[in-house]
Amino acid sequence: MTTGRQNLARRSGSDVKTVYDVQEIRADFPILHQTVRGKPLIYLDNAATSQKPKAVLEAVNHFYTHDNSNVHRGVHVLSERATRAFEQARLRARQFINAPEAREIIFVRGSTEGVNLVAQTYGRQNVGPGDEILISTLEHHSNIVPWQMLCEEKQARLRVIPINDEGEILLDEYEKLLSEKTKLVAMIHVSNSLGTINPVRRVVELAHLRGVPVLLDGAQAAPHLKIDVQELGCDFYTISGHKMFGPTGIGVLYGRTELLDAMPPYQGGGEMIRSVSFEKTTYNQLPHKFEAGTPNISGAVGLGAAMNYISSIGYEAIAAHEHDLLEYATAQLTSIPKVRLVGTARQKASVISFTIEGVHAHDVGTILDQDGIAVRAGHHCTQPLMERLGLDATARASFAFYNTREEVDALVEGVHRVIEVFD
Ligand code: PLP
Repeated sequence: MTTGRQNLARRSGSDVKTVYDVQEIRADFPILHQTVRGKPLIYLDNAATSQKPKAVLEAVNHFYTHDNSNVHRGVHVLSERATRAFEQARLRARQFINAPEAREIIFVRGSTEGVNLVAQTYGRQNVGPGDEILISTLEHHSNIVPWQMLCEEKQARLRVIPINDEGEILLDEYEKLLSEKTKLVAMIHVSNSLGTINPVRRVVELAHLRGVPVLLDGAQAAPHLKIDVQELGCDFYTISGHKMFGPTGIGVLYGRTELLDAMPPYQGGGEMIRSVSFEKTTYNQLPHKFEAGTPNISGAVGLGAAMNYISSIGYEAIAAHEHDLLEYATAQLTSIPKVRLVGTARQKASVISFTIEGVHAHDVGTILDQDGIAVRAGHHCTQPLMERLGLDATARASFAFYNTREEVDALVEGVHRVIEVFD
């Protein structure tokens, strides 16, 4: 089957950007071609979860139709095929984020599980009373609560890097907070609430000067930015498959071999063992040591297909298109007097958070939904950030490479209607 992507690649040669045809891309996403509430669906909730191209749907369908079996333990053909498909997905993920080795790719449920894994293994092993974990004000709850739980258990302290009113972390304050007590820095790469792209290379550099390892939460980065863990220099990196056009329930934790090797297992069970007796269990090698039980095999296969799909467009073309949408939407929304944009960092990915004077964000979301426009309204799992900004909620439109300027126009019209309703 030929996809819109292949057409595009054929016509464009090496310079994909010059012929970026968003309609061809949209043709690969069946879910986008429907009406909701009698209006064409306008899906602007990509930071919550993204839609899936046919290539991903077909990869998962193909796996269950032809290859489904359990991995690693079987000697029969289907098990061999399933194992190959699963391990190929790992190789694809290694290449996608440029990890040095495939055994540094741990399949997890998503970013949340990736962070919890590190907190419960590396954290419990290395953090003690009086030690400190450094996070930022921008963090998603999934990069706050696991560290709070650890700090509570270990009588350690969670320290928070402040931000300015634009939603950028204050690097000089970060530097001041780093000390000999700091055992780990855990930071969002791209903010889900504000779209801020953090200066993570500098963050890693400064931490490493003091020998402190860094975990980056890349859930919102991988759909928009090329991730190169070697270039970033980070020690751990997490990805959520469902936010990057892959299935739900699958993600990647990347960790440097020397750290992963020294860490105790996360969960006990099948697959993560070398040998078990009632007296003593010895553990498997990487990455299996951290993958207890039957993994999400079809999810990994789908994630591999999603990575292939992203690569077929190319991050350069994605960034150019999304940047155009972001600029276009920002200009239009800022020109509406009652609208206030929340998060105006100099470096931003595809997220626009806003408030409308005199209207609760939930009402904004509900009224836009009447027009078939899906946005998110609430605290976006960043309650401490909302508190810092003096808000309890925002409305958030988040773009993917399949969104269009026409959809931005519809959002802007929708916002005008919201204002009229409350006038
Ligand atoms: N980190 C960020 C920045 C997110 O936006 C999210 C989800 O919204 C997560 C982590 C959690 O991802 P998941 O629910 O896929 O584990």
